[in-house]
Amino acid sequence: MRAAPALRMLPVVLKREPDERLSSWLGRLARFYGMSTEAFLECCGLSHSDINDLEWRLGGGEGALLAARVGMAVEELRAMTFAEIAPHARLMVARGRRYVCPLCRGGTQHKATALPWSFWCREHAIRLAARSGRELERLPETQLVMLDLNARAGAVRLANWARGRDEGLPSIPQLLDFLTTRHRRSSPPSLAEQPRLSLEARRANHDFLTRPIARQALLVVVPEYDRVAPVLAKPVRAGLFSLAQGSLLQNYALAVGVGRLSADPVGYSAAVLMASDEEGEERLRETLRAWPLALRRRIYARLGRLRGAHSGSSLGVERNRPGRKRRQSQKFRFSRSHNYAPRIS
Ligand SMILES: [Zn+2]
Repeated sequence: MRAAPALRMLPVVLKREPDERLSSWLGRLARFYGMSTEAFLECCGLSHSDINDLEWRLGGGEGALLAARVGMAVEELRAMTFAEIAPHARLMVARGRRYVCPLCRGGTQHKATALPWSFWCREHAIRLAARSGRELERLPETQLVMLDLNARAGAVRLANWARGRDEGLPSIPQLLDFLTTRHRRSSPPSLAEQPRLSLEARRANHDFLTRPIARQALLVVVPEYDRVAPVLAKPVRAGLFSLAQGSLLQNYALAVGVGRLSADPVGYSAAVLMASDEEGEERLRETLRAWPLALRRRIYARLGRLRGAHSGSSLGVERNRPGRKRRQSQKFRFSRSHNYAPRIS
């Protein structure tokens, strides 16, 4: 064992912060000794190791080499890894921090901030912010406080799912598939979504004004997001990738969506179906095929009642206003479609 003499304990070892991730701590240690993380790992006898692989699963041999160098137990080092995250959720672990706490020290990265559903700093009990630009600040604070209830419920389920401890149905992947299904055909920015532009500017921005934007079920389940998200950044990626690669605002909306669908899957999915167009409804029904049969039956029964009630009320309007054409009442139905989002019971 030629490498053994190189593994003398380091004279100074920086204290790790609570919940600090291994890559952050090793990076700080490397900087302290004036070297890159790669060079530091080499000094620890880990010349061919990738820091991201080490902090995902620290093997026994690697752990022993590192432990000898820093004078800590392997289990202490392993506590800084993502060992508790199940393989199916590895895509959720960001290489760096996703969001920032304005009060936390700049050089330290916490394990929690690697995950898309961590919206609050545990240490300072404040909301995390996006690394650049306004994100959650687009939502009024009073609304955020209400949304937090759903976001926290969604985040708890997501965290359990990542640890392989969520057995709820529909499952997390099934809920995210539903939320990211296009419920209507793509359409250019509506007037409400467009900035105020002069005629000249409208001509210059023709491409933006006519670009089709994907319309996903998330917009119906979380209309608050629909109202404030920048129109080009409204669509999210499909399924689990929506969270893995989403912005802070998108991930917050997705967590709210997961929270709401978990609390009232029948009400919210029936509302999405109600707001869908023909093609969108087909896509949604296809997605819903993965959900438990008994639940699907309740959803379609609720949809039938909503449609019955709505056509009844539309007929009432027509009876009172005999000159009104049928086509107009259809239009009315679409324009109000988002108002069907129910309360959580
Ligand atoms: Zn903090």
